[in-house]
Amino acid sequence: MLTDRSKVVVKKEMTLTERLYLPAIVGGILITIRHFFRKSATIRYPEKKREISDIWRGQHVLKRDDEGAERCTACGLCAVACPAEAITMVAAERKPGEEKLYREEKYASTYEINMLRCIFCGLCEEACPKEAIFLTDRIIETDYTRKGFVFGKDKLVEPVAERVDVTKRQTKDVLDFKKHKEYSHNK
Ligand code: SF4
Ligand code: SF4
Repeated sequence: MLTDRSKVVVKKEMTLTERLYLPAIVGGILITIRHFFRKSATIRYPEKKREISDIWRGQHVLKRDDEGAERCTACGLCAVACPAEAITMVAAERKPGEEKLYREEKYASTYEINMLRCIFCGLCEEACPKEAIFLTDRIIETDYTRKGFVFGKDKLVEPVAERVDVTKRQTKDVLDFKKHKEYSHNK
């Protein structure tokens, strides 16, 4: 509802101290000096890193099995579960002789995650029936282009010689289950 309220604005004359500006400048310098001796709220990242939780949800890894074969079977469940529609993949059929490269008959020839879309919810990890995808404690590196944030298999699949430990992210039940090598899934 409209009203007829109004306020008369009066131009206030500055006092002598205000006109000198010096007290305001000294006050500002004192605040700066006070903050200089206080503990800083920021850290010198990336030289220094903050302590993060064991279950921190950072950059994904596509895992290999004990023999080094890629676990992902391109079933697409992670992409379906992803609320940000950040995952895309192309499935391919394993050829004879590729058994050591890919664990299942079907594998992802292309697997991409758009890290600008990803909200690191971890639902892809939960949806995966093959324990192929996990989030890790690695922080996504910065880039200058949008394309640089679309991570393909070259960045996602763990190198054979440099495995990514994700055991801290797995519950005790899962770790106990994995000890049963008689289940073909765990071999
Ligand atoms: S962490 Fe969440 S948002 Fe990111 S890719 Fe996985 S399901 Fe999608
Ligand atoms: S990562 Fe897991 S859920 Fe996603 S396509 Fe591969 S096997 Fe399926």
